[in-house]
Amino acid sequence: MSEQRHVKVMIIGSGPAGYTAAVYATRAMLEPVLFQGIQPGGQLTITTEVENWPGDSMVMGPDLMVRMEEHAKATGAEIISDHINSLDLSKRPFTAVADSGAVWTADAVILATGAQAKWLGMASEEKFKGFGVSACATCDGFFYRGQDVVVIGGGNTAVEEALFLTNFASKVTLIHRRDSLRSEKILQDRLFKNPKVEILWDTTLEEVTGTEDPLGVEGVQVRNVKTGVISEIPCKGVFIAIGHAPSSELVKDQLETHMGGYVVTAPDSTATSIPGVYAAGDLTDHIYRQAVTSAGMGCMAALEAEKFLAEMEADDSRSKVA
Ligand SMILES: Cc1cc2nc3c(=O)[nH]c(=O)nc-3n(C[C@H](O)[C@H](O)[C@H](O)COP(=O)(O)OP(=O)(O)OC[C@H]3O[C@@H](n4cnc5c(N)ncnc54)[C@H](O)[C@@H]3O)c2cc1C
Repeated sequence: MSEQRHVKVMIIGSGPAGYTAAVYATRAMLEPVLFQGIQPGGQLTITTEVENWPGDSMVMGPDLMVRMEEHAKATGAEIISDHINSLDLSKRPFTAVADSGAVWTADAVILATGAQAKWLGMASEEKFKGFGVSACATCDGFFYRGQDVVVIGGGNTAVEEALFLTNFASKVTLIHRRDSLRSEKILQDRLFKNPKVEILWDTTLEEVTGTEDPLGVEGVQVRNVKTGVISEIPCKGVFIAIGHAPSSELVKDQLETHMGGYVVTAPDSTATSIPGVYAAGDLTDHIYRQAVTSAGMGCMAALEAEKFLAEMEADDSRSKVA
């Protein structure tokens, strides 16, 4: 028979939101268990320098996540190297089944399963990820001060990233495969008026080119889809801005979601549409998508879970007395 255990708080996800929730929940004596999933440490493990984590002027993403894991362990959180493949939120205690076959029940659940940037899937994109290819202008824009960059995409994400990059880059070339943008009109107006922006319509990215040692981007090869003509654009940074996908499969059809799967939370709270279930980090945030905001939400989720469990306990003792 597979292992079955009950815990007060189950945290699903090991990015900044999950580990921060673990630290706070442990310190609130809730003895949480945290499931790391298939990407222990989350999205920051696939980047290089992080320059906006308070207290560290520069830290490597993977190192920061090792430190967060160690911090969570040091407070006493139980970290489990397993992936939750089903979660039943229809009744309390909530039930999760892990890939290992273990069955877990919990009085409260903190969802911190994050999101994934969408990538084009080409080999040269993969090769230069973290070395000139990025999916986050807020995170990496600062590295391209005074340099030329390109942005790939045509929706809100691409236009917002391109506008943000004009704060640093000398020139931003937006490359879009169609002849019009899908983004909001107001954003388009701002983009068209910005003298640093050039738009290449009907154009797709063919390849990212660069140096081997040190590994770094030097340009992109693009193709006009109408004429078939291939051309080269020199640049130091390539921002893939074709959207993000929240990792909300576990709670699909169980929790209220919006904007393509982001879990809806109550205003100024991490409470979801089911009492006792909290969502933190990129799973719920389609706007900021930062480590520090995710960590902040992880803290909120743990404190809200603590309050919920205390109220549940008080209700139980009242009903026993009555
Ligand atoms: C290339 C890149 C560079 C970035 N650079 C910066 C930066 O410089 N500064 C910054 O602030 N932000 C940066 N970000 C954004 C930052 O990484 C995210 O905002 C942050 O990691 C979100 O944290 P999170 O805890 O919500 O989830 P994530 O980091 O997305 O982690 C999600 C976790 O959930 C786990 N998980 C998912 N499904 C399951 C499941 N079913 N069972 C168990 N576990 C599961 C995964 O294994 C993972 O551990 C960058 C992102 C990328 C992609």
